[in-house]
Amino acid sequence: MQTREERTYQAVIGLEFHVHLATTTKMFCGCRLVYGDEPNTHTCPVCLGHPGTLPVINEKAIELGVMAGLALNCDVAERAVFARKNYFYPDLPKGYQISQFDEPICNGGHLDVPVGDETVRVGITRLHLEEDAAKNVHVGVSGRMHGSVGSMVDFNRGGTPLMEIVTEPDIPSPEAARAAANHLKEIMRAIGVSEADMEKGQLRCDANVSIRNPDGSFGTKTELKNMNSFRFVERGLARELERQQGILDSGGTVAQTTLHYDPETDEVHELRSKEFAHDYRYFPEPDLLPLELSEAWVREIESRMPELPDAMRARFVEDYGLSPYDAGVLTADRDLAVYYEAVAAEVDPKQAANWISGDLRSLLNESGEEVSNSKASPERMIELICLVRDGAISRSAARDVIGRVFETGDSPTAIVEREGLASVGGDELSGVIEEVIAANPDEVGRVKVGDKKVMGFLIGQVMKATRGNADGGRAREILLQKLDS
Ligand code: ADP
Ligand code: ZN
Ligand code: MG
Repeated sequence: MQTREERTYQAVIGLEFHVHLATTTKMFCGCRLVYGDEPNTHTCPVCLGHPGTLPVINEKAIELGVMAGLALNCDVAERAVFARKNYFYPDLPKGYQISQFDEPICNGGHLDVPVGDETVRVGITRLHLEEDAAKNVHVGVSGRMHGSVGSMVDFNRGGTPLMEIVTEPDIPSPEAARAAANHLKEIMRAIGVSEADMEKGQLRCDANVSIRNPDGSFGTKTELKNMNSFRFVERGLARELERQQGILDSGGTVAQTTLHYDPETDEVHELRSKEFAHDYRYFPEPDLLPLELSEAWVREIESRMPELPDAMRARFVEDYGLSPYDAGVLTADRDLAVYYEAVAAEVDPKQAANWISGDLRSLLNESGEEVSNSKASPERMIELICLVRDGAISRSAARDVIGRVFETGDSPTAIVEREGLASVGGDELSGVIEEVIAANPDEVGRVKVGDKKVMGFLIGQVMKATRGNADGGRAREILLQKLDS
């Protein structure tokens, strides 16, 4: 028997993602995909499951699936087979979902996930294509089934091209699971395979979790279903690991179940026991031929793939001399990376990185705005950085100016003039410095005999006299010149 102190708990986590593909039409019919339209305005006999209709594969969906697989370092299969997954639910009018089973489109890849300063390699077991179900809409105050007065089905979503990505059970912590999910989302967005907007249900995540047995073998896993934010993935997993540890600590055994994490109460609830797991009676879809993917087509798709975030990060370090951290921040969002490159082409790339990954990004975070719609355009940012570089405004004034630009879209030069933020420079600064020297003879004497610390005090006096609107570096230069002569 092991005592509580001896037992160390090692988490084992595997993730399953569902990702909507960014096609304009559905997987097996020509209905358009529009999020948020009136219910049941994008339907046809195929996606409503009428008898006698036939599915036609959306070629673009296959292409995006291949692209996603390549980005995840998978082997693209030469042959893939669609299968029927049979079950009954009101959101599935055919009584089966067309999916892939034993011959998926991609197998065996990996995802290198930045977690803090380390990189964790997460294996990708498989990637397959399928169609999404329709959406059950529960009518009532809560919007959930529980407590609703009735349910209706919106078939607009039914038949949306969907990709399922399954990872190997080699994610070591809830933090790494969140990072893996984030990284996957980043990649999908960067290559244009999906918008991956979780609020629109375009990216969903299930997490499987267990604690390794003392002999190193896998323990019994539970599954946390349908988490709609990565923060909840992390919190839900942490909570579930605690629950499993509690059971093991008290000598119990973990039961294999499916759970739901409720972020409001920070608790997990059992959804159903695996003993009642469905038997989906998979069989090959008789209405579709197996897919045959030629090597040449796969290579052609590969040649059209945009730069991946990992490659872009490495390039930012190399070309712009950024730290891996800054490069990571700037490439985490493709739009931000595009913005950065536009600015870095015109001004010092490191200054650009500081302003964009610091001030601009916090303004974006606070307001929830997208960088691509921001009033603080790359042109405005370039102008601002030039004003600081040329000593026209101090760094601290520039901080105010960027805030104003962000709100109004006005030109930094105009804002500086309007608000009297121009840096005190030239003759004016020179005059201020002479006054400071005259008013502080003792301190000046100490600097002259080599007491460097007093310089800070004198520069502080200059700043005070200019109300912060002087460039500290420039003030120091002038001060030293004057003291030398
Ligand atoms: P199931 O048969 O229950 O669907 P799979 O073997 O297909 O299980 O795995 C589903 C997911 O669960 C995968 O993401 C996999 O990495 C993960 N997984 C498998 N075994 C474990 C385990 N012992 N602990 C945590 N996750 C696991
Ligand atoms: Zn349709
Ligand atoms: Mg499985």
